This record gives sequence, structure tokens and C-alpha cells, in this order.
Amino acid sequence: TEIGSQKDRVVTEEEWLRKWEMGNIGFHKEQGHPLLQKYLDVLLNGRSGLRIFFPLCGKAVEMKWLADMGHSVVGVEVSEQALKEFFAEHSLPYCEEPVPEISGAKKLRSTSGNISLYCCSIYDLSSSIVGKFDGVWDRGALVAVNPCDRQRYVSLMITLMEKNSSYLLVTVSYDPNKHKGPPFYVPESEIKSLFG
Ligand code: SAH
Repeated sequence: TEIGSQKDRVVTEEEWLRKWEMGNIGFHKEQGHPLLQKYLDVLLNGRSGLRIFFPLCGKAVEMKWLADMGHSVVGVEVSEQALKEFFAEHSLPYCEEPVPEISGAKKLRSTSGNISLYCCSIYDLSSSIVGKFDGVWDRGALVAVNPCDRQRYVSLMITLMEKNSSYLLVTVSYDPNKHKGPPFYVPESEIKSLFG
């Protein structure tokens, strides 16, 4: 089919952790993503003091941007190293809190209070744990999810969205027979059927 051999590819959590350990993180953008600047108005839609979710957040600098604008940021990431690097690289003091609902998980929260990063798998989250969001910045998230888990991922994301929330999604377009991914190629038709 259109996505060819990527359909069955699986990247394990251990492989992601190893990428962080090896510094094999070519996906990280130190300067932040120009598309967030370009479409910021679409995300915010004139609203202030929003709750913004960063699925599979890594150490995305856009979390700092939005927090500095007065929004509350929540992220989730399996690599604790990534989260610690985020706070360290922005010189943000933080504290570690347990997450009683999720065994083995913890929450790293900026002392100022408006950035909360969950260290666990996104599939461990639910709206009863993290609440619902007014906006989502999905860059390097849907395209990093294993193709077999896309429906599960999107169904979960939908449960985490408030009624009037906006969802910015960045994908990459290329010939999936030429690279194994991630980032995986997600055809437009699939995005439409996933999100409805
Ligand atoms: N969104 C970030 C990172 C993209 S790379 C950015 O724009 O820079 C994808 C990230 O997802 C990696 O940091 C990886 O460790 C993390 N990840 C992979 N599977 C995950 C899962 N099931 N739950 C939470 N994080 C996950």
C-alpha cells in the first residue's frame, strides 16, 4: 500500500531511550519550529491562559515559548534524560512528584508551576490524570508513533481535547520506500480517517 514497508515497523521504548543516551537526536530543533511561529494564532485563536499539550515532547523548546506567553504546558515523554535536559538547558528549577495513578511514572514540574512533564508512556495517560487541553502541538509525535499504534494514539488524543481546542500537526512528506523512519510517512488520507 501507500506506506509500504513502514506499516509493520516498530521502534521500542528502549530504542528511544538509547537514542537519547547516544545523543542520536537529530529530530531536536534547538531554535524551535518555524511552523509554530507561523501558526501560533491558529493554535491560540485569540485566547490566553490556555492549557497546551505536547505529546512525545522530547525537550522541545516550544514548551518554553508557550509557558513564557503565560500558558500552562503539559508534556509526556518516556526519556527522563530528555526532560532533565529540557529544564537544565533553560535553567528552569523543577521538582519531581510521583504520579500515583501510573506505576513507575513521575512528573517533573517547573517550580514556577506552569510546565508539567510526565515521564511515562503516552498510552499510560488519560483525561482523568492530565485533564483536557485547549491546544495541542503535535510535531514529531504522530509521525514518531509506530504505524500499528496510530489509531490508539489518535483516539487517546481526542479524549484529551476540550471542545474548542485546536490541534497543530506537523507531518513529513517523502517516499516511504526510501527511508524506514521515524519520522514515518503519514498520508493525508490516513490523517483524515484517523481524526475524522
Ligand atoms: N516532539 C519532540 C520529540 C520528537 S521525537 C520534538 O519535536 O523535538 C519523539 C519522542 O517521543 C522521543 O523523544 C521519544 O523518546 C518519545 N517517545 C517515543 N515513544 C513514546 C511513548 N510511547 N510515550 C512517550 N514518549 C515517547
